Amino acid sequence: MGDEVKMVPALCTQCGGKLTVDPIQETAECPFCGASFAVEKAISNYNVQNATFEHVDNVNIDMSGTVHTVLDFVGKQMSESREMRKELRKQQKEDEKEYFNRFVKIGIPFFIIFFIFAGIMVVVLNRIDGGEASTSDTEEASTVNYDVERGRFYIDIPNPAGYIWEFDEFHSSGVNLDSTKEKNGLHYEVSADQSFGMGYAVLHWQDEDDPEREGYMIYELDIEDNEISYVITTTEVSDMSEFHF
Ligand SMILES: [Zn+2]
Repeated sequence: MGDEVKMVPALCTQCGGKLTVDPIQETAECPFCGASFAVEKAISNYNVQNATFEHVDNVNIDMSGTVHTVLDFVGKQMSESREMRKELRKQQKEDEKEYFNRFVKIGIPFFIIFFIFAGIMVVVLNRIDGGEASTSDTEEASTVNYDVERGRFYIDIPNPAGYIWEFDEFHSSGVNLDSTKEKNGLHYEVSADQSFGMGYAVLHWQDEDDPEREGYMIYELDIEDNEISYVITTTEVSDMSEFHF
């Protein structure tokens, strides 16, 4: 057993020469440079270098590992940018939602206010239009509108200017006469003074500038259950003697 010395490869710690040593020995002498070196160290030197060259495959694996790492890194970056895009889309959606909410909160009330305002303007402008129209309609001051509604007879004179208007108490009969003067015209309301039969509402008009010009509008009204039900006839005369009740 003592003869069977198992020599192992080593590298001289001084000159790097390749040699073999007896691992049992503590020190040896380099045949190339003659230096005395520690056997253990020389063996270790050899093993390190050997590993470097002999395990190139491992290095490759390491390299591919590095490649993997790089790919992992890229993949991570990609997934990160995917996450970022996802986050961005989420943010966009939230932004859109917020814009919508803002629209609902501000836009809709704005539109409601706008339409209300527009509606008011339409009404106001129509009023103004009506006022202007009536000014040019002065010639037709005798325009009288009438209607029966809910048991009452109504007379509307939109533009009474230039004429004196009044119900003729003497000639009217079977009805109650009531009038209201408003900014935009005269309004007369006539109700029944009896339960059944006929009633007469006589409206007298007279030209303010020419009192000779005058006339009577006679409305013959049907009365049922203390209510005026309809207008039987309308007659216009210049003198009441022309009308036969
Ligand atoms: Zn040496």
